[in-house]
Order: sequence, then C-alpha cells, then structure tokens
Amino acid sequence: MHGPTQDINDAALTALGIHRLEIPVPFIEAGGPANVYVIEDADGRYSLFDTGIGTPDGIAALRGQAAEKQLDLKKLSRIVVSHGHLDHFGNAQMLSEESGARVFIHDADVEKVTGDARFAALLRRHRAYFLRLGVPVETLDQMQEGADRQPNLIRHVERSRLGPLHDGDVLQFKHFEVVVKHLPGHTPGLVCLHAQRQRFFFADDHVLARVSPNPLLDLSQGEGTTKFRALSRYLEGAKWVRDLDLDAVLPGHGPAFRGHRELLDGLFAFYEQRQDKLLARLQQGPASIFELLPTLFPRRDAGRLVLMLSEVLANVEVMEDQGRVTATVHPERSRGANDPPLDGEIVRYAPS
Ligand SMILES: [Zn+2]
Ligand SMILES: [Zn+2]
Repeated sequence: MHGPTQDINDAALTALGIHRLEIPVPFIEAGGPANVYVIEDADGRYSLFDTGIGTPDGIAALRGQAAEKQLDLKKLSRIVVSHGHLDHFGNAQMLSEESGARVFIHDADVEKVTGDARFAALLRRHRAYFLRLGVPVETLDQMQEGADRQPNLIRHVERSRLGPLHDGDVLQFKHFEVVVKHLPGHTPGLVCLHAQRQRFFFADDHVLARVSPNPLLDLSQGEGTTKFRALSRYLEGAKWVRDLDLDAVLPGHGPAFRGHRELLDGLFAFYEQRQDKLLARLQQGPASIFELLPTLFPRRDAGRLVLMLSEVLANVEVMEDQGRVTATVHPERSRGANDPPLDGEIVRYAPS
C-alpha cells in the first residue's frame, strides 16, 4: 500500500474550529490512537465527532487534552458517532450524561452501541454458520470461550440518548458545514462527513493511511441473503470516495493527510492480489473458508482467528459477487443453487 504524501498541520484545522484529540487504543489492529474531533458550533458550544475508548487511559487522555486546549466537554450540542466500534463510541454515554447532548448514530450500528449485538452473543446464535465455514467444533468452542472472556471495556449507550443520523443529513458548524455520507463496509452503519466546500473528508475508519479497514465478519444483519457482505460493500463506497476531489482526509486514527486516490488505488490492488491468491488455491480443488486460511495467513494465530476468517470470507464474497467463484455444499447431494446448506454441512468454494 502506498503511504499518504503529506500531513496536514493541526493548526490549519484549528483555524476551521476543528480540534483533534488523540485517545490511546489498547489493541494494535486499530492502527494507532483514535481521533476525537471537537468542532466549534456557531453558538459557542461544540459538536463531537467520535469519543475515543472508555478505558481509564482513554478517559484520562480525553479529559487531559480537552483541558489543555480549553475545550469544555460539558458544552456539547451533539455527539456524532461514526460507527459502532468501542474506540469510537466508548465515551459517548459518559459525555452524554455530563453534557446532556444526544448521541447520533446510523440505524444499522445502533445495536452495537446499545450492546444488543455483542460478538459473543452473535457467535453463539450463529454457531451453525461458523461450522458451515468449516471451522472445527473444538476451534469454535475456543473462539466462543475467548469471546465470552473479553473484558468489558464498554459503557453502552442508553437508547433514550440516541438520535438519528441519515445519509444526506447536513450538519452546520461555526466555520463550515458537512454532509453525512453512509458508507457501509467497515461496519454496516458507518458514516463519514464530507465538507464539500473545504474539500475535507472526515473518513473515520473508511480510509486510513496506515492499515487496511478490516472488513469484519458481521452477522448483525443476519445470515443468507441478508448477510452483510463487508468487503463488497466497502469497495463500492471506497470507489465513490476515490472519485472525490479532496484537499484533506481527516481519518479516525492518525493525522490528516492528502493523497487519498493513490492510497485507495493501492488498497484496491492489495485486495485484488489477495483474491488472485485465493483463486489460484481454489483452482487446485474446492476449499472451505477455514481451509483457505493458510493461503493468506501462513501462521494461524488463535487470538486473531476472527480477523483471519473475516478477511478470507470477505475476499471470497467479492469473487462470488463477481461470478468468479461458486459455493458448493459438501457432502455431495443434489440441491438447488439457492438452497441454504443444511446444519453440519460445510460450504466449499470452486472457480466458476
Ligand atoms: Zn472501526
Ligand atoms: Zn477505529
């Protein structure tokens, strides 16, 4: 992947009433500290875009940096959350309690912030789905144990505090306005903010300079035809962003940067390479998602199994949508192409 060509000075952002706070995130996949954007409103209050994670370190960083920049977080008019990951919404409940501001998030990610779509619960509910991916029972049991043991770093947000956030909504600030753009992919309900006149794009985790946006396996929208196809949807949205004329991307992690086209072209090439690798493997014989893991990840790491399964499945789904691979059900039996697989059957893929 190509790197961004140039960083934008935080002082240039401050002139537009945008203050960036950097909140440490205790897991490496995030790609560095998460940004909280405190944006000046016309009436002397502030709007927030994302909140950082609610760990003791996260809360200390949020309070410390806000105080240093003389930003009073009790004077919030609204808390806008880009998507339902805990490094972005983790302090939303606390800040809403302290300021009285509502928390605005897209419908499709509401259950993530209210705690109704916890991974451990989804994994239990969709156990048969993971078995059909070819995950062995013992491995699945270990995944479930791991998910159940996850420390609860999350203060979920009360439903009564939530407000709606739709594609096309316009948000006014003191020095500029943005249009809300729904860009599902990294999560089903992810939104970005586009300052069209200033040619700025608040990209949160949709476009990141240092890491690919992890199209995570997400069963919050169900299985089968309603299953959220993370990478297929992501690539649609990323192609739309690529064609924007932008002077700066303000990401969810790291400083603002220019050069989103080169970055996204590099990302598209990265995924095409992964898909070519998977296709070459499938030309040697059908394989399940689990059996394809070593093709992309020579060393299996139990702690990262969900990320690895996500990555393989997401790329196979893209090829399936393009008509390059077809799912078959094992063991052999005559079934219609659209029949859902029976419990205990493993889905394998072959070149079309
Ligand atoms: Zn995220
Ligand atoms: Zn993030």
